Amino acid sequence: MGYSQEYVENMTRLHQALRDNPRTWIQLVKGPDQLCEKYPNSGEYHCEHHDIYERDAIILEKIGLKIGQILYWKDIEANIQKYALPSDIHTVCETCSWRSYGVCEEGIQDILAGKGLKEVK
Ligand code: SF4
Repeated sequence: MGYSQEYVENMTRLHQALRDNPRTWIQLVKGPDQLCEKYPNSGEYHCEHHDIYERDAIILEKIGLKIGQILYWKDIEANIQKYALPSDIHTVCETCSWRSYGVCEEGIQDILAGKGLKEVK
Protein backbone atom coordinates (compact mmCIF):
# COMPACT_ATOMS: atom_id res chain seq x y z
CA MET A 1 0.00 0.00 0.00
CA GLY A 2 1.15 3.56 -0.62
CA TYR A 3 0.63 6.82 -2.44
CA SER A 4 1.95 5.79 -5.86
CA GLN A 5 3.74 2.91 -7.59
CA GLU A 6 7.10 4.67 -7.14
CA TYR A 7 6.41 5.28 -3.45
CA VAL A 8 5.43 1.62 -2.94
CA GLU A 9 8.53 0.32 -4.76
CA ASN A 10 10.85 2.54 -2.72
CA MET A 11 9.19 1.61 0.56
CA THR A 12 9.29 -2.10 -0.31
CA ARG A 13 12.99 -1.85 -1.22
CA LEU A 14 13.89 -0.15 2.07
CA HIS A 15 11.71 -2.52 4.08
CA GLN A 16 13.29 -5.53 2.37
CA ALA A 17 16.80 -4.18 2.99
CA LEU A 18 16.04 -4.02 6.73
CA ARG A 19 14.53 -7.53 6.70
CA ASP A 20 17.57 -8.91 4.87
CA ASN A 21 20.09 -7.13 7.05
CA PRO A 22 18.93 -6.03 10.52
CA ARG A 23 22.43 -4.59 10.98
CA THR A 24 21.63 -1.84 8.50
CA TRP A 25 22.62 1.55 9.94
CA ILE A 26 19.77 3.98 10.48
CA GLN A 27 20.13 7.68 11.19
CA LEU A 28 17.10 9.18 12.91
CA VAL A 29 16.28 12.45 11.18
CA LYS A 30 13.82 15.21 11.99
CA GLY A 31 11.40 15.73 9.10
CA PRO A 32 11.23 14.08 5.68
CA ASP A 33 13.28 10.91 5.22
CA GLN A 34 14.06 8.42 2.45
CA LEU A 35 10.42 7.29 2.34
CA CYS A 36 9.13 10.86 1.97
CA GLU A 37 11.52 11.41 -0.95
CA LYS A 38 9.14 9.43 -3.16
CA TYR A 39 5.94 11.08 -1.99
CA PRO A 40 4.15 11.99 -5.25
CA ASN A 41 4.14 15.59 -6.43
CA SER A 42 0.38 15.51 -6.83
CA GLY A 43 -1.64 16.29 -3.72
CA GLU A 44 -0.73 18.13 -0.55
CA TYR A 45 2.85 17.48 0.64
CA HIS A 46 2.00 16.45 4.18
CA CYS A 47 5.48 15.25 5.22
CA GLU A 48 6.29 18.62 6.82
CA HIS A 49 2.93 19.03 8.50
CA HIS A 50 3.18 19.83 12.22
CA ASP A 51 1.00 16.79 13.09
CA ILE A 52 3.61 14.48 11.57
CA TYR A 53 6.45 16.11 13.54
CA GLU A 54 4.39 15.74 16.74
CA ARG A 55 3.62 12.09 16.00
CA ASP A 56 7.28 11.35 15.28
CA ALA A 57 8.38 13.08 18.51
CA ILE A 58 5.83 11.17 20.61
CA ILE A 59 6.79 7.76 19.24
CA LEU A 60 10.54 8.46 19.44
CA GLU A 61 10.25 9.47 23.09
CA LYS A 62 8.08 6.47 23.81
CA ILE A 63 10.67 4.05 22.45
CA GLY A 64 13.57 5.84 24.13
CA LEU A 65 15.30 7.21 21.03
CA LYS A 66 16.43 10.69 19.92
CA ILE A 67 16.81 12.61 16.66
CA GLY A 68 20.38 12.36 15.37
CA GLN A 69 21.09 8.89 16.76
CA ILE A 70 22.73 6.42 14.39
CA LEU A 71 22.05 2.80 15.23
CA TYR A 72 21.33 -0.59 13.73
CA TRP A 73 17.77 -1.40 12.66
CA LYS A 74 17.92 -4.41 15.05
CA ASP A 75 18.49 -2.02 17.95
CA ILE A 76 15.44 0.02 16.95
CA GLU A 77 13.46 -3.23 16.89
CA ALA A 78 14.79 -4.04 20.37
CA ASN A 79 13.50 -0.68 21.67
CA ILE A 80 10.13 -1.29 20.02
CA GLN A 81 9.99 -4.66 21.81
CA LYS A 82 10.82 -2.99 25.10
CA TYR A 83 8.59 0.06 24.98
CA ALA A 84 5.88 -0.12 22.29
CA LEU A 85 2.45 -1.75 22.24
CA PRO A 86 0.20 -2.41 19.21
CA SER A 87 -2.44 -0.20 20.87
CA ASP A 88 -0.06 2.79 20.63
CA ILE A 89 -1.09 3.02 16.97
CA HIS A 90 -4.63 3.95 18.08
CA THR A 91 -3.47 6.82 20.22
CA VAL A 92 -0.31 8.11 18.52
CA CYS A 93 -1.68 7.71 14.98
CA GLU A 94 -5.27 8.65 15.71
CA THR A 95 -5.66 10.88 12.65
CA CYS A 96 -3.73 8.76 10.12
CA SER A 97 -5.74 7.52 7.14
CA TRP A 98 -3.74 4.24 7.00
CA ARG A 99 -4.50 3.28 10.61
CA SER A 100 -7.81 1.52 9.90
CA TYR A 101 -6.12 -1.10 7.67
CA GLY A 102 -4.53 -2.59 10.79
CA VAL A 103 -1.15 -3.34 9.18
CA CYS A 104 0.85 -1.02 11.44
CA GLU A 105 -0.64 -2.58 14.55
CA GLU A 106 0.13 -6.06 13.15
CA GLY A 107 3.67 -4.88 12.38
CA ILE A 108 4.28 -3.99 16.03
CA GLN A 109 2.69 -7.26 17.12
CA ASP A 110 5.11 -9.19 14.87
CA ILE A 111 8.13 -7.32 16.23
CA LEU A 112 6.98 -7.98 19.83
CA ALA A 113 6.65 -11.66 18.91
CA GLY A 114 10.24 -11.67 17.62
CA LYS A 115 9.21 -12.18 13.99
CA GLY A 116 10.84 -8.95 12.77
CA LEU A 117 9.45 -7.06 9.80
CA LYS A 118 6.53 -8.58 7.93
CA GLU A 119 7.22 -10.23 4.58
CA VAL A 120 5.92 -8.13 1.67
CA LYS A 121 4.11 -10.34 -0.85
S1 SF4 B 1 -0.92 4.38 11.37
FE1 SF4 B 1 0.89 3.50 10.40
S2 SF4 B 1 1.22 4.73 8.55
FE2 SF4 B 1 -0.09 5.91 9.93
S3 SF4 B 1 1.33 7.19 11.10
FE3 SF4 B 1 0.92 5.35 12.29
S4 SF4 B 1 2.61 3.97 11.76
FE4 SF4 B 1 2.55 5.56 10.16
